[in-house]
Amino acid sequence: METAELKERTEVAPQTRLYNFSAGPGTLPEAVLLEVRDELPLYGTVGSSVMEISHRSPEYTAIEASARAMLRKILGLSEDWHILFLGGGASLQFHQVPVNFLPKDGSADYLVTGTWAKKAFKEGAFLGNARKAASSEDENFTYIPDPAAWDLDPNAAYFHFTSNNTVYGTQVHYEPNVGVPLVCDASSDFLSRPIDLDRYGLIYAGAQKNIGPAGVTVILVKDSFLQQRNQPLPTMLDYGTHTAKLFNTPPVFAVYMVNKVLKWLDGLGGIPAIQRINDEKAARLYGRIDRTDFYRGTAKVDSRSKMNVTFRLPAEELEAQFVAEAKTRGLVALKGHRSVGGIRASIYNACPPEAVDALIAFMDAFEQKNG
Ligand SMILES: *Cc1c(COP(=O)(O)O)cnc(C)c1O
Repeated sequence: METAELKERTEVAPQTRLYNFSAGPGTLPEAVLLEVRDELPLYGTVGSSVMEISHRSPEYTAIEASARAMLRKILGLSEDWHILFLGGGASLQFHQVPVNFLPKDGSADYLVTGTWAKKAFKEGAFLGNARKAASSEDENFTYIPDPAAWDLDPNAAYFHFTSNNTVYGTQVHYEPNVGVPLVCDASSDFLSRPIDLDRYGLIYAGAQKNIGPAGVTVILVKDSFLQQRNQPLPTMLDYGTHTAKLFNTPPVFAVYMVNKVLKWLDGLGGIPAIQRINDEKAARLYGRIDRTDFYRGTAKVDSRSKMNVTFRLPAEELEAQFVAEAKTRGLVALKGHRSVGGIRASIYNACPPEAVDALIAFMDAFEQKNG
């Protein structure tokens, strides 16, 4: 970065977008934000903003239809799959999944690999027989347990796992092959790589990590799986209520933005293109971490996340200094979660490769000065 540009980026109220490594809500594609700004007061021909029109209007109906069509295209989703846009965050799904799919006389298996996975398991156990198939809590969730050691119930109604552990910086790099339908919390790596849909019954993702702003959760549910749900259920918690019709007011503005992010992703070349970009960003950043002993990755190498890169420095004071100095260089939200400490760089789909390059350059300079 040039000095003048640097200076501008460090003003109290920056006039330039900073390189934002926030774990969530995460950075959004700038092109999408500019488009939203331009049409904020007047959307299309409706004579008002998109926030001020009926969710049953033809204009909003078209937005939802477009978002669904984009998701079908990007993921290759067949008509067997329902697509829902619900409120309540991924956290509500921790409860809604077992309410629907954990049978009174049956059980479900959970892979416990981090903060969010543990919360999902807790909600399952609150409602019924949720079994812990494996956990990596013994080593502060620094790894994904070896599938060979998972304690699986062949009669489980589903196998729940968290594909990417946002806090601990680990990721499941394969599709679990467990013989029962997979249910996945994909909040922090949704649409960053392909999904082998055949194995899944349901996938949910809070939008605010990888595909949009907070306020909407995308839920993909396979019809054959949906039909196995418990009955009767409270109306709002029954997925069937929402697959049947637009039951209540959806998070209109968040869906509108998700639609734009999906179009941006499709324009980039969809999953193959973003996967290549994500692989390159992660390889460069981990390569820098591994190049010297000054930086130390916290996750086991084969479990490393390509979305949330967690690492430590030789001392906590240096970590605090790293975060503070990075900020003066326009690199923000790098402080690790308190349960891991150190640094966490979240490099979701919308984090541009230039941001990673700037971070690496800063890491080089910081090590040179303090190493
Ligand atoms: C952020 C996150 C959640 C929680 O999402 P909310 O929308 O705040 O409920 C759940 N799971 C994962 C993997 C996350 O990263």
